[in-house]
Amino acid sequence: MGESRAALNVLAHLTADGLTSIVCANSASGCEMRHAQPRTSARRQEGAFPVTDGTPRVGTGYDVHAFAPVEAGRPLIVGGVVIPFARGLAGHSDADVLIHAVVDALLGAAALGDIGTHFPSSDAHWRNAPSTEFLAFTAELLRDHGWRIGNLDATLVAEAPRMGPHVPAMRAQLAATLGILVEQVSVKAKTTDGLGFAGRGEGMACYAVALIERTAS
Ligand SMILES: [Zn+2]
Repeated sequence: MGESRAALNVLAHLTADGLTSIVCANSASGCEMRHAQPRTSARRQEGAFPVTDGTPRVGTGYDVHAFAPVEAGRPLIVGGVVIPFARGLAGHSDADVLIHAVVDALLGAAALGDIGTHFPSSDAHWRNAPSTEFLAFTAELLRDHGWRIGNLDATLVAEAPRMGPHVPAMRAQLAATLGILVEQVSVKAKTTDGLGFAGRGEGMACYAVALIERTAS
């Protein structure tokens, strides 16, 4: 009997902590669990766990652009920085692969759709627009929804040209456009040892992760 009461106490404790809801019957053999289901799911449905001040969220972004032919005469713009190179990236806007990945990471963290949702290629307004405009718009959108940027980290995958020397300028451009500190922005450049489309110099890819925090409940 003492053992059975102890079991009941444990279950009551779990329930009070919101870990689980268990219907328990005290029988001669002790505590018999008839039903168990995560209590948190029910409470979430009731809106009992609002996103409150300081709540962090993460998002990921990924983008790829092919190099345009030399004849296209497109400038190479990455991270909002014009980089001297024979070929630019092909795309609807300025094809800034880094900014596009960062925009998707930020939108993803806030669950506000993706770059195609807000800047559709069918919309003439964004045709040939600098991607820094996408980024500034995204920062404003997040602020309007009560989010501030904690930090972001991007990995650029490119065989050529060498991107490393341009990383400080990219970080400064991203930070200034987003209205955050350079210390909150990381950009890393990688090659792929000649493997894959990036390794063959056919295009560039970028991965990005963003952390955002709630400014108000
Ligand atoms: Zn893109």
